[in-house]
Amino acid sequence: MSNHLPVGSVRPSQLLWTYGPGALVDLPNLSVLTMGLDRWDQLRCAPIDEERLLEAVRKQLGQQVERLRVPPVSETEGVDKFSPEAKIGVPVRPFPRWLRCVKCGTLAEFDSGLFDIKENPYRPEDTRFVHKTCPHGHNADAVPARFLLACREGHLDDFPWRYYVHEGPSDCKGTLSFFEQGASLQTENLWVKCDCGKSRSLVHAFGKEGTKNLPVCRGRHPHLNHYDDCCKEQPRAVLLGSTNSWFSMSISVLSIPSTGNALEQLVNDGWAYFEDVTSVAEVQFTLKTLIKGSNLPGIEAYTPEAVWEQIVAKRDGKKTAPPQETDIKRPEWKVLTDPKAPNNWPHFMTSKAGVPTAYASKIQDVLLLDRLKEVNALIGFTRVEAPEESDDPNDRPPMAALCRGKPTWIPAFEVHGEGIFIRFREDAICAWMGQKAITQRDMMLLGGHVGWRHARQLDAGKGYPGVRYAMLHTFSHLLIRELALECGYNTASIRERIYSDGDPADPMAGILLYTAAADSDGTLGGLVELGKPENLGRLITQALRRAAICSSDPLCSEHDARNDRSLHGASCHGCSFVAETSCEKGNRYLDRALVTGTFENTDAAFFDAPPLSDE
Ligand SMILES: [Zn+2]
Ligand SMILES: [Zn+2]
Ligand SMILES: [Zn+2]
Ligand SMILES: [Zn+2]
Ligand SMILES: [Zn+2]
Repeated sequence: MSNHLPVGSVRPSQLLWTYGPGALVDLPNLSVLTMGLDRWDQLRCAPIDEERLLEAVRKQLGQQVERLRVPPVSETEGVDKFSPEAKIGVPVRPFPRWLRCVKCGTLAEFDSGLFDIKENPYRPEDTRFVHKTCPHGHNADAVPARFLLACREGHLDDFPWRYYVHEGPSDCKGTLSFFEQGASLQTENLWVKCDCGKSRSLVHAFGKEGTKNLPVCRGRHPHLNHYDDCCKEQPRAVLLGSTNSWFSMSISVLSIPSTGNALEQLVNDGWAYFEDVTSVAEVQFTLKTLIKGSNLPGIEAYTPEAVWEQIVAKRDGKKTAPPQETDIKRPEWKVLTDPKAPNNWPHFMTSKAGVPTAYASKIQDVLLLDRLKEVNALIGFTRVEAPEESDDPNDRPPMAALCRGKPTWIPAFEVHGEGIFIRFREDAICAWMGQKAITQRDMMLLGGHVGWRHARQLDAGKGYPGVRYAMLHTFSHLLIRELALECGYNTASIRERIYSDGDPADPMAGILLYTAAADSDGTLGGLVELGKPENLGRLITQALRRAAICSSDPLCSEHDARNDRSLHGASCHGCSFVAETSCEKGNRYLDRALVTGTFENTDAAFFDAPPLSDE
């Protein structure tokens, strides 16, 4: 099998969020695993310059990281199979190794000699395995066995079929088969059988029983062809195609003007193009290509001489150390709340909007971002459970590496879009936080946090974002859902950034909602329009009304995070969760009661109850 199997038309953004190193890609007839970065051809990955993001990545993964690069886009449709495009893709290998014949149920590893691979050179996604000598017909299809083992350290392994059916280690070399009994495909009806006579239902591989019936974790990283020495985590059975087999860990920044000079910013943004030029003549040539391809909008306003001067200045300036940011969001907040916010940068165009009158006592400013750019970098992944984000690198949960050894480059991608930034009134936030009901809510959420972290052997004194964050975050979700309902947006295409800090010297309380498309300067259009006061006021009112009642009430509104050691209060899929790609915190630290009155709690709400109808 080709080592660079194109995995279908995968966009770079999807690649990072779904098909990064270590992730399983479910193809129609086959399941493959994306290999580590050390197997990728980095020359096919164009560099991206985003100084702030690179610094943040280095803080997590070390100073040896030199570059951020865009993963290759694979094309399969309508491409000559011998052309270079056809070879573009990311390296993958078949995983799991166990296959099951759909006709006779024979269960064996793909290289056991029982199976043949049928490749379709014109449609790589049609590649499949067949059971060579199947008693029920020659060349019957074989499909991946749908069970795997994974652990919270990020290890992934084949399901231990022989161990499992023999109820422990065994030397039996019998042929295994997989069969279904009963009408439905529930796990109790799925069985593995050995021709020595042993058989066992897969129901005993899950839950509490699973911990007794499965072997210890072997520390396997199949994307690196490597086994870690020891692993103390309990492996769990996971199903192929389930969402918990891979969670990306990424860092993102908003591209903000970092200098007071538009040309300097353009040269920084386009440094990948200018880095190696040695003369004004070369600059002239580079500019021509850039302008022709609209690769650096805004640069056309400058002469080659001026650009060359800036390149020289940047090279000289390189000797000084880059600014050490302590926080990714603080500089963004500064720009977003600057009364003279830049309004005409290539990737950052803003205009002020009025505050909806009904909410003037709560909201200080609304800033419309007609154009914005976000850059994302993938730094690792977890399995079984979404990572618990933390700003403290020493406090990171176990995270699996993207390559063997220390990475010198990291996959990243840019998205362009538009957004609405809402800044809340600090006096309103402080008055709200001073109430007794808020302290009680805070204690409830903190109690859940402590329980959740204890259950995972994490330091419970860390990582709690506070009730200010939970309120802003929940409001953000309610508005995302309302925007989606109002305009038929897919909620997954709207993203959030929460700016929250209770430091009295320099507090932050704001949210940025934005659309982000990986291709072109694409945007779904219209988000900025919805940020205008008459629309935004109506949308907030609708969102608050809707949030007062959840279809899962009273269960949802009565939910106490302490009871089940969870990370949310009155919140669920029915009322305030959003798509995984929209949320910056994995749908954690949410509580409707902090935003608006609920069935159970009316005294913790930041907002007054909205009027029942619009007269
Ligand atoms: Zn067969
Ligand atoms: Zn046996
Ligand atoms: Zn493990
Ligand atoms: Zn709910
Ligand atoms: Zn969220």
